[in-house]
Formats: sequence, structure tokens, C-alpha cells
Amino acid sequence: MWEWQKIQKVSWKIEQVHKLRRNALSEQAQEISQELLEILACPACKGDLEYNRNNQKLICVGECKRRYPIRDGIPVMLIDEAELPGDNE
Ligand SMILES: [Zn+2]
Repeated sequence: MWEWQKIQKVSWKIEQVHKLRRNALSEQAQEISQELLEILACPACKGDLEYNRNNQKLICVGECKRRYPIRDGIPVMLIDEAELPGDNE
């Protein structure tokens, strides 16, 4: 392999590592805060919401049990966008 190809490969790898690190950092920054959770309520039944970190969803713990998606760290509190408990994951 030519020397410059090796260099290119190494610098590509470094870039990937940096990208991963940046993603990890921005994910942390997008964490839904407890304060925000307390303010938010389910628009369908006014129930409390629970933050599901793994699925990045806010789950209604009230009557309707709808699941609201979180996009770019912002909860989408729209009934139309929510999944119903019967929907597949
Ligand atoms: Zn609800």
C-alpha cells in the first residue's frame, strides 16, 4: 500500500472517532430534563409523562398511554404523532 493511502486511512479513522464523540456529547445535551418533564403533560389526557431514554420517547402514564417521539432533543407533543399502546415498537 502506498504511504499516502495509509495516511488517508488513518485520518479517516480519526475523523470517525471524533464524529462518534461529538454524537455522544450531543446526545447528552439533548437529555430531557426532569424540570421539562414536570411541565409537560399529555395533550390527550393531561396525564403525566415518563421519559424513556432508550427509545427516546415520552410515555404517558395517564389514561391513554400514548408514546410521544423525541426529535433532536425536542419532544413532539402532538396527538397525531403519538403512538398508541397497541402499536408495534
Ligand atoms: Zn395520555
